[in-house]
Amino acid sequence: AQVRMFQAMKLEALGQLTGGVAHDFNNLLAIIISGLSVISRSQSEEERASLTASIEQAARRGAKLIRRLLSFARRQTLKPEALDMESWLTEMAALLKPSLRPDIDVVAQATPGTAAMVDRGELELALLNLCLNARDAMPEAGTLTVAARHVHLAPGQDADGLTGPFVEISVTDTGEGMSEQTQGRIFEPFFTTKPAGQGTGLGLPQVYGFAKQSGGAARVESTLGRGTTIRLLLPAAGSASSGTSRPRTGAFPGAE
Ligand code: ADP
Repeated sequence: AQVRMFQAMKLEALGQLTGGVAHDFNNLLAIIISGLSVISRSQSEEERASLTASIEQAARRGAKLIRRLLSFARRQTLKPEALDMESWLTEMAALLKPSLRPDIDVVAQATPGTAAMVDRGELELALLNLCLNARDAMPEAGTLTVAARHVHLAPGQDADGLTGPFVEISVTDTGEGMSEQTQGRIFEPFFTTKPAGQGTGLGLPQVYGFAKQSGGAARVESTLGRGTTIRLLLPAAGSASSGTSRPRTGAFPGAE
């Protein structure tokens, strides 16, 4: 049943793709084509320079859209490795800073000795998705906090039935927050509140799919006007029972 559900979700996603992303992509192509035709006729050096810049920007957005689509469609098997959170977060914070804005303070903190059993590449993609969303939610400066700590979930304690040792990675922003209604939809493929051409609605589905596929979970807490925390629960490394918990594994919310 789960396989059938997944096929149905995929078909539905494909339908939304034709309506949504293809539309955005087509708009970008229109900008590129009309820009090129004006350039070929333009006598003004200044106009050519400014058109070249907007064509490049449109092409880059198109490339980004396709990259996201591909990484979403890929869903390759994960290759988990033990990853020390403290050194990884220090490295990631340095890597991420240039993609954020100077008016965003970045705080990264991990409890020493915390290690997760995860696919590093997919985790980095997930963190990037979360941090770029946090940036977009803070148009007027703010603080982005990324934290990692060890948690032990006792039977009956967790809403999704996760039990055992986990690493919790939380990404918190002091941005605009989300309504309850938006919170209920953010993990759906192609759900976006961003202007056409800017949002793909594929960031959080990647985050959600990765967390679920890893044997963990992804959750949201948000208050309008205050900010948002997205929490990932991922299996802890270096523990005999890691990976033995059996969470329900839906590809998307509602797919289980
Ligand atoms: P995209 O960023 O392309 O819109 P995502 O799947 O990453 O796609 O996010 C879906 C939607 O979730 C966003 O359009 C936005 O409405 C909401 N969202 C995600 N992260 C945040 C955040 N940190 N603060 C406020 N809203 C957010």
